[in-house]
Amino acid sequence: MDGTFASLKGGAAHALKTGDEFISSLDDGRQLWVKGRKIDHVMDVPALAAGIKLMASMFDDQFTEEHSYATTCLDPKTGKIVGRSWQEPKTVDEMIGRRKMIEFTSRRTAGTFGRPIDLGPTIAIGIAANAHEFKGVKSSFDECQPDFFENVQEYVEYGRLNSITCAESLTGPQNDRSSPMAQAASLLKVKKVTKEGVYISGAKSVGSIAAQTNEIFFTNLGYPGTPPEACIWGSVPINSDGIKLVSREMLSQPEEDPFDHPLTHKGEEADQLVIFDNVFVPKNRIFNLGDQNVLALSGKATLWAHWHVLTRIKVKSEIFVGCAQLITEILGTDQIPAVRAMLGDIVEYNRVLEACIVAAEANAKPTAMGTMAPDVSMITAGRLHSIRHYPQIVHTLQEMCGQGLVMRFGKDSFNNPDIKHHLEELLPGKGVSGMQKEQLMNFIWDLTCSSLAGRVALFENVNASPAPRLRERLFNEFDRTPMTGLVRELAALDF
Ligand SMILES: Cc1cc2nc3c(=O)[nH]c(=O)nc-3n(C[C@H](O)[C@H](O)[C@H](O)COP(=O)(O)OP(=O)(O)OC[C@H]3O[C@@H](n4cnc5c(N)ncnc54)[C@H](O)[C@@H]3O)c2cc1C
Repeated sequence: MDGTFASLKGGAAHALKTGDEFISSLDDGRQLWVKGRKIDHVMDVPALAAGIKLMASMFDDQFTEEHSYATTCLDPKTGKIVGRSWQEPKTVDEMIGRRKMIEFTSRRTAGTFGRPIDLGPTIAIGIAANAHEFKGVKSSFDECQPDFFENVQEYVEYGRLNSITCAESLTGPQNDRSSPMAQAASLLKVKKVTKEGVYISGAKSVGSIAAQTNEIFFTNLGYPGTPPEACIWGSVPINSDGIKLVSREMLSQPEEDPFDHPLTHKGEEADQLVIFDNVFVPKNRIFNLGDQNVLALSGKATLWAHWHVLTRIKVKSEIFVGCAQLITEILGTDQIPAVRAMLGDIVEYNRVLEACIVAAEANAKPTAMGTMAPDVSMITAGRLHSIRHYPQIVHTLQEMCGQGLVMRFGKDSFNNPDIKHHLEELLPGKGVSGMQKEQLMNFIWDLTCSSLAGRVALFENVNASPAPRLRERLFNEFDRTPMTGLVRELAALDF
């Protein structure tokens, strides 16, 4: 029995939310539109509700012996048991413990939620890990002078003790990228400054999971010369006056039978355009107001989120390996050299991603605030590898399935007395019935071919920067001098 579970059973103080408490926390009058229709309660949209219930089940898992180690830890300040989502790892062991939570949420969602309950907090943790950079920075607006350093740390404590879930959005609406005017127009901007806080307007283009979460972290992706009114960073509740969430269409199938759609019947994390129409941000929720250098810290602060992204794709690669192995077993293709080679490619993908995570953690170093920071070059290289090969790996898995991935007939067909015996006679695999074979094919269909899978593939490709930007990061951040030094020595270069 692990420590936190034993303590919980013994009645120790905790600050954990139950699934029901999480669900009720979202019934807060948030302004949401789906397909042009104003929604009164987020749980009224079946696809959103199913996704919320899936997240709620993870809150309930905190209280179980099986999952309490992965999902909970001790708050060093209050001594209470808290959700691991908000843990600030101070040692390599704590970092590995925190990674168990990423693996847990990734497994529960089959990696289809890029922003599960523990992703948003990694942004707050990332800011707090670099809080020293916020120390002493003054707001550019005399009327409002928040203490950014204090705010960041208080926010993490608030999130931890209230089990807050958050969306995070940096990206501005897509427009003419060659026009500085167009880019400036799409930034979130301070419109009015008061002693108690600021009012902001503008939009964030893709706020994944915003409608299904408590708060949103916002900032702008700046550029040289970003005006002070657009150099902002903060967090507000999703139900703040003036926040309007316009959702994309739903892609999951909560109404479908779990046999026919083992994954997509579980709902989804949806993406919203988040409009800020004169939204008040209280002084204690502001982490930057007018400072260009602090705005540029978002790359550093998102390191823990990127570690999450890579770990999640690694878990997904485990699912791909599992699917591929089972397919060869039930189709009897495991003795064909070409098929074994395809499976080898998928295993290679998984092993490389795991290696990048292990190396990033092994090379982790504490920030000036004492939070362990994974090695950024291993994280970026791993992320680049993961998105570059993702389409090919998915294609390979689909190819291994052959016709079975398309020729799926559904539970009702297997139960229909007129055709049942034909299907049973014609479709069995190696050691499995036709219906059992289809069950696996249905899962792989949902995972790789469904509308939801299409969204997830696009998400993987760009959500945490597309490949060209990752290459640029490697160029900028990886110190190549020891390697040029080696070449100089080996080749006896005299320049
Ligand atoms: C499903 C989904 C969910 C998302 N969720 C979130 C979220 O929760 N939070 C969030 O902040 N963002 C989110 N994003 C947005 C994501 O961060 C952006 O899509 C990404 O940063 C690319 O920006 P863009 O789409 O505006 O592309 P654009 O800037 O319009 O560029 C289009 C393409 O041009 C190329 N390109 C443009 N500029 C450069 C450059 N400087 N260097 C190299 N290549 C370049 C890239 O290939 C890029 O994909 C999500 C996106 C998707 C599709």
